[in-house]
Amino acid sequence: MYTYEQLAEWRKLCQSSFFLLDTARLRDNYRRFYEAFASRYEQVSVAYSYKTNYVPYVCQSLHQLGAQAEVVSRLEYDLARKLGVEPAAIVFNGPLKTAEDIQLALELGSLVNLDSFSEIAPVLTYARQHPEQTVRVGLRVNFDLTRGGVSPLQNGYEVSRFGFCVENGSFAQALALLSAVPNVRVTGLHGHFSTNRSVGVYRQIARELCRLGKAHLGERLEFIDIGGGFYGELPVTFGMVGVPSFDDYAAAITSVLKDELAEAARLPQLILEPGISLVADAVEFVCQVVDVKVNRGDRFVLVDGSVHNIKPTMHAHRLPVTVVTQSSEAREGTYHVVGYTCMEKDYLLQGFRGKVPEPGDFLVFGHTGAYTLVFNPPFIRERPPVLAIAGGDVVVARRKETLAEFFPESLYEFPAGQAGKTGGYAQ
Ligand SMILES: *Cc1c(COP(=O)(O)O)cnc(C)c1O
Repeated sequence: MYTYEQLAEWRKLCQSSFFLLDTARLRDNYRRFYEAFASRYEQVSVAYSYKTNYVPYVCQSLHQLGAQAEVVSRLEYDLARKLGVEPAAIVFNGPLKTAEDIQLALELGSLVNLDSFSEIAPVLTYARQHPEQTVRVGLRVNFDLTRGGVSPLQNGYEVSRFGFCVENGSFAQALALLSAVPNVRVTGLHGHFSTNRSVGVYRQIARELCRLGKAHLGERLEFIDIGGGFYGELPVTFGMVGVPSFDDYAAAITSVLKDELAEAARLPQLILEPGISLVADAVEFVCQVVDVKVNRGDRFVLVDGSVHNIKPTMHAHRLPVTVVTQSSEAREGTYHVVGYTCMEKDYLLQGFRGKVPEPGDFLVFGHTGAYTLVFNPPFIRERPPVLAIAGGDVVVARRKETLAEFFPESLYEFPAGQAGKTGGYAQ
């Protein structure tokens, strides 16, 4: 943990509460993830899921180690290119790609995984316009993962909205439509599902992708893309036991591929798209206590952060927290930690028992790297800066916004005229 002086210095640098990126941790997560798969299988590509945390410094730290980019919008695609990622090292997924997005990605040679029928026409159009090019695409597939009457999908969904359904023939129909133009080739299958993240479900997904690949693509099968959704290391506050490791996932998935595709002339490339498992525990959120007050019997600790900063998805897990205090005497007690917004429900911690902080103390929330910064509209205040530490180096990876950056005149119309003075009604 950091000392009070360290945090105070960094806060001064940021002029705000801030996210703290542990670059070494991020890199170590990536290395361990890659090694788990690459030590068991020849052709492995890891494409980092941008949407999980697309702070350029985060993406670049991973690209420097060799990670490819997995993007789900044109905005993310353009960011990857701006960061210098080779188009061939970008996997373009997501349910909404325009005809222009698809054609650009095909022209530059990125891997495009099609998600629905509306995306097929632009591929055919492009292929007809470029008869000399072999146009390679992947298909995101959708199949039933229910076992014993229980769906492993998150939030209790029984049917996933993504991809081409195998059971009702949509997948076969998509293949047929794409085969109408001779220079289009479906070279792989994509099967990202939001599930309970168990090893068994990945085994099921890998097996189904292999079987579909064998049956429908045969020797054209160049890649199997398992998607993301893996668990990384979890804090003890989540209270979960038996969480699979990267090695557990890798052993299961690679052995399915080797078994299922033992007869194939060559094994397909295995693509993985981790997000949360690489960044969640590499970022902490540091806020400062502004006030401690008691309303009726309840003690409220007000901080210059918000639940929107640390838990915009409002998941139910309790994040690990450390109180870094100036004072030597530590009082124990029960309290709520509440944020700067004007919302009643802005609780960073509720009914927490521990060391009671005082104004000026810091609260450091762990495990705040995934689906936070990207999922968090700058509500009421500017977005918190991001400070990256790497060895002894400290880099402000995102500065605090100024008013002009928050409300750029290039973006907003600022009508001229009388500014309100009286609180009355001017005719
Ligand atoms: C969100 C997403 C990922 C990453 O998922 P994590 O749970 O963050 O690992 C990978 N692939 C696709 C297609 C996604 O939508």
